[in-house]
Amino acid sequence: MRVLILGGTGEARELARIVSGERGFDIVSSLAGRVRDPLLPEGEVRIGGFGGADGLRKWLTDHGIERVVDATHPFAATISANAARAAADAGVPLLRLLRPAWTPGPGDRWIPVPDLTEAARAAAGHERVFLTIGRQGVSAFADLAAPWFLIRAIDPPTAALPPRHELLLARGPFTLDEEIALMTQHGVEVVVSKNSGGDRTEAKLAAARELGIPVVMIDRPAPAPANVVVDSPEAALAWLTEPWGKP
Ligand code: NAP
Repeated sequence: MRVLILGGTGEARELARIVSGERGFDIVSSLAGRVRDPLLPEGEVRIGGFGGADGLRKWLTDHGIERVVDATHPFAATISANAARAAADAGVPLLRLLRPAWTPGPGDRWIPVPDLTEAARAAAGHERVFLTIGRQGVSAFADLAAPWFLIRAIDPPTAALPPRHELLLARGPFTLDEEIALMTQHGVEVVVSKNSGGDRTEAKLAAARELGIPVVMIDRPAPAPANVVVDSPEAALAWLTEPWGKP
């Protein structure tokens, strides 16, 4: 069975790894090409956009794809919407692999916001802000002249940045001790995060809790419609290996 995994996440890499160990699958993973030196999944990989939903539909047909797993990041709304449309148009069953969102626990001081604009508004009243939203979206904070920002990303942002900042290029996972040390060293007063979920980057939330620091938490965008949603690579493998009558 020829399967396309839309990736760019740890879950997508894990799924590629475990499906590679199964007989009868021919998988290709797809990356957008945003990161300069990406962590590559096992097996065949293609890199770059498809040219919208229509381009993806054509790609699925041209490459004889029989199943699609959308394992992209919860904030990658455009590719997910395109995948839903393209798979429906091509008549190919689609699975959404979506990691669970983080939820606040005792001791957490979260400030939930719906989007980047509101996150910038919430950050504006603080002096030392730890911006851990990745490279994309940082420009939403560019007009904030007063706060100082510690901006952490894998690659340098290309869009406008706030005038007072330090850029930290680093790729997770990070330990709790590392996060506490980083926030203490920089006198961080508030953390800004997307609600990405997953364990690779959640230590920053535990560190904020331990230090009593608030977290401006950006809600996920509305998910694209999907008939089947699972939250783990193992469940995605089960979907791929289940006996298929009709899709
Ligand atoms: P996006 O806004 O949803 O997608 C923008 C365009 O990028 C899509 O229309 C598509 O171009 C192309 N694209 C996105 N993901 C692709 C993939 N896996 N394979 C091929 N083309 C892809 O996506 P994004 O938020 O920029 O994220 C890009 C990638 O980074 C995703 O694969 C995602 O899993 C990963 N990622 C995103 C975040 C985040 O916070 N957004 C965080 C970590 C990882 P065409 O229309 O030309 O097909």
